[in-house]
Amino acid sequence: MRWLVMPAVGSCQLLPVLSSGFTGPVAISAPVGGPIPFLAVDGICGPRTNAAIARFQQVQLQIFDGVIEPNKNTIVRLNEIIDPVSDDDLRVKVRQALPIVGLALTAAVRNLQAVITSGPTPTGPVATATDRLNRHFGLATLSAAEQSAAHVDLFGSYTRFSTVIMNPELFNIDTVDEFDLDRHNPRIALTQPQGFFEEGREDEDTHRRLDRIHLGLGFFAPSVGAEFAAFIILHELSHFVGRANRQNIGDVGRGWFDDRFMRPLSANQRLSNADSYAGFAHECRTGSAVKPPFVRTAPGGLGGAR
Ligand SMILES: [Zn+2]
Repeated sequence: MRWLVMPAVGSCQLLPVLSSGFTGPVAISAPVGGPIPFLAVDGICGPRTNAAIARFQQVQLQIFDGVIEPNKNTIVRLNEIIDPVSDDDLRVKVRQALPIVGLALTAAVRNLQAVITSGPTPTGPVATATDRLNRHFGLATLSAAEQSAAHVDLFGSYTRFSTVIMNPELFNIDTVDEFDLDRHNPRIALTQPQGFFEEGREDEDTHRRLDRIHLGLGFFAPSVGAEFAAFIILHELSHFVGRANRQNIGDVGRGWFDDRFMRPLSANQRLSNADSYAGFAHECRTGSAVKPPFVRTAPGGLGGAR
């Protein structure tokens, strides 16, 4: 069984999941290191304290300077982990993000509706919608017939995404540490390609349900605001449901439409790329083509997520 795993914000990898945990680009066959030892609080920053800091940074942040400074990454991450988060707190974040997702999907459907029902020379809002489709999905590079087919397919896909978010029970809040098993990749979200259609099925090894979007502790970090959370859910929804034409939506490139790893993508690649779906819907909602601060560019899936 292969899952689409978001190892860092705005990116997913297709990884096999074994009962002993994840394997991936960084595979381990046995536990590496161990828990940070509890130290007596003596006010002394000695070698053991320094070792514990270095170990924490290595595991959590992939940095190795061994120094905790006010308001820098290490202390922020420490607080994210230590700060107690209840299931209710986690559900609040999903509840805050879902209406934003709903608005984005409705806006995307309206944009597509306007384009589909317009004449050959678009003006006003139809011209705006056409421009958005060209930037996020590169549709201007397709023939007229291919463009029409893409409009209908996108309309169907976004309509189906909207139906799914009417069912919040499809989101599984997963506070357990399984997202963290390879220790180099705190995970944020996990979905099965077209898992929506795997009703009642679960992964044989982990017993994790295939028909759920799993949101891990990284999703609930204080640094992930409601808008960012909505973008992540839009991205995961596209994997979870797939295209109206039943093709999978994977991770061919990550980022905003004009980012370094997005620019080379063809229209057909973008039509099967999760961040293209999230980006178009985000812009339809906000009306702004400016890249949101939380979107980062990265190449496609290391595990060959397509
Ligand atoms: Zn993804």
